[in-house]
Amino acid sequence: MTKFAYFEGAIRPIEEAKISVMNQTLNYGTGCFGGLRGYWNDDQQQLYVFRIVDHFRRFLDSAKLLLAKLPYTPEQLAGITVELLRAEGWKENCYIRPLAYKADNTIGVRLHNLQDEVAIFSTAAGTYQWADRGCRVCTSSWRRVDDTAIPARGKLTGAYMNSSLIKSEAALAGYDDAIVLNQDGHVAEGSAANFMMVRNGALITPPATENILEGITRRTIMQLAAEELDLRVIERPIDRSELYLADEAFFCGTGAQVTPIAEVDHRPLGNGEVGPITRQVRDLYFSIVYGQQPRFGHWVTAIHQQPVAT
Ligand code: PMP
Repeated sequence: MTKFAYFEGAIRPIEEAKISVMNQTLNYGTGCFGGLRGYWNDDQQQLYVFRIVDHFRRFLDSAKLLLAKLPYTPEQLAGITVELLRAEGWKENCYIRPLAYKADNTIGVRLHNLQDEVAIFSTAAGTYQWADRGCRVCTSSWRRVDDTAIPARGKLTGAYMNSSLIKSEAALAGYDDAIVLNQDGHVAEGSAANFMMVRNGALITPPATENILEGITRRTIMQLAAEELDLRVIERPIDRSELYLADEAFFCGTGAQVTPIAEVDHRPLGNGEVGPITRQVRDLYFSIVYGQQPRFGHWVTAIHQQPVAT
């Protein structure tokens, strides 16, 4: 159970971290957030947080889209998170949620001339079960929010109405998740994860201009695929019908980690098993996030009695 939150400038008991029903962001969806994972390495008795400073960089970028003025550097927010996690003392995997919100309790829709606040809390995340089979997905009947309406590259609370519509439609129709197309009809991403597919040995993913969230896991996997796995990595628009012809596909994200996709719109991909490239990417990713790859030590921050990695 969560015991603490960073709230109104200090680490406090979680019961004290409360906002009013009159809160601006609760009413208008004008906040932004982040999502980080802490991985508990039992052999080392150590909790590792993956790419903590990079997550807070994106968090502050999202805040910028909201005209939020937050008096923190990414390194300061990382430092607060380390302190919070030390107080919390998780000895299991955890999920960390930073949230920036408009703190005023007033009516009147806008982004400017409001007080911005940051809150951070963490929850237990449980151990990831290896999926022997990938997930079954459909193409959503919803379209991804467009940059001309709500910027998808920011992790904005209001934009998750779009993700929620996509996820619930898919789940209530019996699928595990959905792939959502953008206004141009190209593949954008999953409800809350980026999309990658393998065709003819190359790893293909939509570019940042296709109304996707600029995922940190996406960036990580693109680098690992090119530099460690010697794969050709291609950023280009993907048509819906190409999904059906992919040899392999997977979602990637902090929450999704590396989630293989077995089937899209009732078409099995490859032989329906987790493909060899997906497996390679997944194994490498997990060994890094658990702090088992010293070469990638700069991507993980050890929470207990260690300096904060940048
Ligand atoms: N797209 C969306 C819509 C998401 O919510 C997420 C999860 N943050 C991602 C992609 C993956 O981003 P990341 O790898 O930075 O967690």
